[in-house]
Amino acid sequence: MSTATIIDGKAFAAKVREQVAAHVAKLKEQGITPGLAVVLVGEDPASKVYVRNKGEQTKASGMASFEHKLPAETSEEDLLALITKLNADPSVHGILVQLPLPKHLNSDLVINSIDPAKDVDGFHISNVGLLGTGQKAMVPCTPLGCLMLLRDHLGSLSGLNAVVVGRSNIVGKPMAQLLLADSCTVTIAHSRTKDLPEVCRRADIVVAAVGRPEMVEGDWIKPGATVIDVGINRIERDGKTKLVGDVHFESASKVAGAITPVPGGVGPMTIACLLANTLTACCRANGLAEPEGLTA
Ligand code: NAP
Repeated sequence: MSTATIIDGKAFAAKVREQVAAHVAKLKEQGITPGLAVVLVGEDPASKVYVRNKGEQTKASGMASFEHKLPAETSEEDLLALITKLNADPSVHGILVQLPLPKHLNSDLVINSIDPAKDVDGFHISNVGLLGTGQKAMVPCTPLGCLMLLRDHLGSLSGLNAVVVGRSNIVGKPMAQLLLADSCTVTIAHSRTKDLPEVCRRADIVVAAVGRPEMVEGDWIKPGATVIDVGINRIERDGKTKLVGDVHFESASKVAGAITPVPGGVGPMTIACLLANTLTACCRANGLAEPEGLTA
């Protein structure tokens, strides 16, 4: 029996999308339509699904969606030329290049060629630096979604011990920066961390972003802690394909105070935060006040 409160990311993401749509409607009355350009290079099946979902949700929020699908063999020169064009296009407020890119393309170079003000993924080196120094940045969508869920559930995070398991540039590191900015005492754990269960047991907040199915067990969790499971892992169980997180939900939900499920936890927040970031970028580009509660 699970005793933890289930943090309903699906419902929260729907609320974020509603807020975004309401702001978009007001902007449109002033003749401004926020626009998001998504660039997909190649035929990666998972990326195609993500890009399709992003496009659908962008349009559903009332924003303009520009999809650029390029063949896998696209040259770096051509991709950079497209980004230069999108950087200069006033109807485009957000630019997202779907990762991973085909191996012959240098992802760092490509991401760093996006205008930082339009970098709605928050991966540009300028945004990473701005976030790290506590300045106004574009914040990566998945960690922003986790932060929103944590603030909603816990209120102030000040003084809490937070352990982020995973140190990737897209989830772990920006997550740690956001928790630090909210005055948590932050530990970043990774594959070389010694006695990870013991490190996790000290945490009031555990964010698992590892990519290993059900790795974080119930006895790693401090009773009453808040557990945010970023992992999305497809496994075979009882002859069926199942989606599980990086946390062993059944055991962890008996110990935690609150926990995000997979699916239906962090996942839906990512695209909702992408829309929120596009709206924020549009407001900043037009010198308008940013909508409250939709950025860090
Ligand atoms: P990643 O780039 O592969 O990074 C994984 C991190 O986990 C690395 O820092 C790695 O440590 C650490 N790690 C691996 N094995 C470990 C172990 N046994 N003990 C402790 N740490 C370990 O992955 P990512 O892109 O951050 O994604 C993490 C998970 O989140 C994946 O399941 C991914 O699908 C999911 N995800 C979900 C969303 C969403 O929208 N919900 C978005 C992005 C990612 P080292 O650095 O030492 O190798």
